[in-house]
Amino acid sequence: MDYIKHKVPPVREDRLMACQAYGGTCGDLSNDSKKGCLYASKRTFSQTQGCQLNLSLGMISSMRDAVMVIHSPIGCGGNLIQNAGINKVFQKLRQQSAVGLRWINTNLSEVDVISGGEAKLRQAVLKAEREFRPSAILVFNSCVPALIGDDIDGILDDLQKQVSARIVPIHCEGFKTKIQATAYDSVYHGLIRNLVGEDKSTKPAIIRTPEEELEHQEKISKTVNLLNVGSMSRIDEEELVRLLKALDLNVRILPSYSHPEDFTYAYEAALNVSICATHDDYFVEHFQKLYGIPYVLRTIPIGIANTNKWLRDIAAHFGIEEQAEKLIAAETAELNKAIEPFKAEFNGKTAFLTGGEVRILTTAELLHNLGFEILGLRGYHFDKYGEILLEEYMEDVPNSEKAIFNIGSGQVFEQANLLSKITPDLFVGHIGVNGSAAKQGYPIFPLFGQSDDYLGYKGVYEVATRVSRILRNASFNKNLGKNTRLPYRDSWYEQDPFTYIDDSASIAARIG
Ligand code: SF4
Repeated sequence: MDYIKHKVPPVREDRLMACQAYGGTCGDLSNDSKKGCLYASKRTFSQTQGCQLNLSLGMISSMRDAVMVIHSPIGCGGNLIQNAGINKVFQKLRQQSAVGLRWINTNLSEVDVISGGEAKLRQAVLKAEREFRPSAILVFNSCVPALIGDDIDGILDDLQKQVSARIVPIHCEGFKTKIQATAYDSVYHGLIRNLVGEDKSTKPAIIRTPEEELEHQEKISKTVNLLNVGSMSRIDEEELVRLLKALDLNVRILPSYSHPEDFTYAYEAALNVSICATHDDYFVEHFQKLYGIPYVLRTIPIGIANTNKWLRDIAAHFGIEEQAEKLIAAETAELNKAIEPFKAEFNGKTAFLTGGEVRILTTAELLHNLGFEILGLRGYHFDKYGEILLEEYMEDVPNSEKAIFNIGSGQVFEQANLLSKITPDLFVGHIGVNGSAAKQGYPIFPLFGQSDDYLGYKGVYEVATRVSRILRNASFNKNLGKNTRLPYRDSWYEQDPFTYIDDSASIAARIG
């Protein structure tokens, strides 16, 4: 993969041929995905969908000592306001002197649509530099300047000569893609092009004695870049760092809540360790191409089976398999004893999960291990990384090939119909759809939370504890379900939930 020389990254529809619309079972999806034609499926009706600008902000607006400039009408990125509090608190968990979110919007108007928004962009970047003196200024391009043809790269190249902060253009215009996860590529593209590597014009090269260089190289040979995600809590990070340190590895954490300078020497690492292929494949593959750094990308360490796989993949790279097996044996022996009471409690209960493909498949395995039967899964999109994980999931979880698998982002009407038919005991969902399921009366367990544990061995116990508490008293949501209704006609619930998925093009492509 080598897109870094281009100013703008490709969208995921083109890069990964990702599927955005599907209704069937896990077994069907696995078979159809292997035939390679799922990308051609589409919707004949779409209720809503996410914008990649917002996900880009979710991923990187937590960067410390940086200013976000959103080049757009005032509404784009307006939801940042809900993050201001947690952004500051969670930055401080990493660096006491951190100041939290700083954000400027260029406030494009109708007049700017006619005359261009370039002057406002210049003004905003210079204001960011003058007022805050940040280490980096991240500029997010939105639909309007892209459509009217503002030359943001030309302007920012010119401004870079006038400001000391490193400027990072991020091309994340919402209209360009139906796959919101394209945002991760847009952000990494900007970061790799503009933050990685020393700025030799402002800083002298580091000179080391041969002994110092030897020591430095020794340190690099045991350093991993742990790639976190914006939805991850600090306690989750600490759990993963604890496990990696138990293998005698040094850990550098990127990209969320990082400092711009953390990227400067990010190429000084022996291994890139991802916790989510949907999030990181663009970064790790480019780092392998540009700097020869290998990577671990298979799974997210959620649940015992996937945490074990994650650790084994890392250990295999360093040739420390024996050390990893000892760690796994000690951790799982203690954990299995601790979760035994929950298994009895959850035995026979059913669950439905929705969210990113990697996270739902691994969380489903975790819940299965706790005694749940998984009735269905709903992924935002599906690609080659989901295909591998689904295969492993079906190996780990007996009879799972018969469970429902729906693919769709933002199609809450489809989810409501599906839930009315399969009626799980527990709904595990992403923000944006949990409210809808709650109005149908289902107990909700959030798929992620920035203040809670989900990852590693500790995460298994903590998830079990919280699910137990939710199921013990679900009366609030039950009452909500009895006293509210979703805005769909009864006739919709009588139809097939996948009525508006058109897979005729993919069937035609498959037949040839
Ligand atoms: S879709 Fe375009 S206009 Fe809408 S919020 Fe996203 S960037 Fe802004």
